[in-house]
Amino acid sequence: MATTQAPIGAQEFVPGDAKTLDELKAAAPGCRGCELHQDATQVVFGRGAEHARLVLVGEQPGDVEDQRGLPFVGPAGRLLRDAVGDAGIDPSIIYLTNTVKHFRFELRGTRRIHQTPGPAHITACRPWLVAEFSLLKPELVVALGATAAKALFGPSFRVTRSRGEFLPWPASAQHPEEFPMAETRAMATIHPSAVLRADDRDAAYRGLVDDLKTAATVLR
Ligand code: SF4
Repeated sequence: MATTQAPIGAQEFVPGDAKTLDELKAAAPGCRGCELHQDATQVVFGRGAEHARLVLVGEQPGDVEDQRGLPFVGPAGRLLRDAVGDAGIDPSIIYLTNTVKHFRFELRGTRRIHQTPGPAHITACRPWLVAEFSLLKPELVVALGATAAKALFGPSFRVTRSRGEFLPWPASAQHPEEFPMAETRAMATIHPSAVLRADDRDAAYRGLVDDLKTAATVLR
């Protein structure tokens, strides 16, 4: 299993002169910014429109994503695609990414059980997210779930309290200086995996779609 020495962070692995998302993506497999690369199958970088108007930020790749090397292709990703469609959002304007780019898990027998990335992993991986945003400059940022929301808006942010509300971006970012872009909007909602875990899945799904419908109002 991975060693747990303090992460050095991704900064030295992010090409500062990257002009395209493909250049960032090509460099990501070389990242040794934290120990998560040791046990994961591969890095899972963001994907989507080069000039996306909407960026959806999740937590980390899951088991299926880790194996396929693509974000949001597992059960939660399928649900998210349905929710985006039901919210009337054109998928071609979206870029999907995660706060942390390698899968963190715990082995139980042969099963790989998801583990939430810790603050050190989130901080270590942040330079990739900052680099993605610096190229994308989206009109709207939606954090999916608590990990992404806290990473973007700060540790005191509560998705349950503030979901579906527009926030100014980058003014509402924890470190606005890292996102030198025109003022736009941001929002948080639940992660699609929370819908899959909910006792009342239909209600949770409707809540996610309602938040995405609200988000879509600034894209029209
Ligand atoms: S999780 Fe992020 S910082 Fe850690 S090795 Fe992977 S890409 Fe680098």
